[in-house]
Amino acid sequence: MNHIISKDPICGMSVEKDSKFFLDDCHRKILFCSKPCLDQYLKRAPKNVDPVCGMRVENSSPYTLEKSGHKLFFCSVDCRAVYQRRQDPEHQSKCIDL
Ligand SMILES: [Zn+2]
Ligand SMILES: [Zn+2]
Repeated sequence: MNHIISKDPICGMSVEKDSKFFLDDCHRKILFCSKPCLDQYLKRAPKNVDPVCGMRVENSSPYTLEKSGHKLFFCSVDCRAVYQRRQDPEHQSKCIDL
């Protein structure tokens, strides 16, 4: 079952579970009290998407990887490890340490 965040991350209000304003963020569901809050969140939301779990990841995430010139962002060290194992089975020991 998805984890539900019932506190509007923009205004801090508690939101009813059946709110029409929500966002599915892979394994989380984020609820909003109103459309303006949802819009504001989308404007601010990080554009980096964890290629393993599909979650949005902040630019400040410490879990990144350089891949052919661009930077990948991960939500956790586990997702990064999964990605590395999938992409690069024989170069695992060469992981980039930041
Ligand atoms: Zn709100
Ligand atoms: Zn992840």
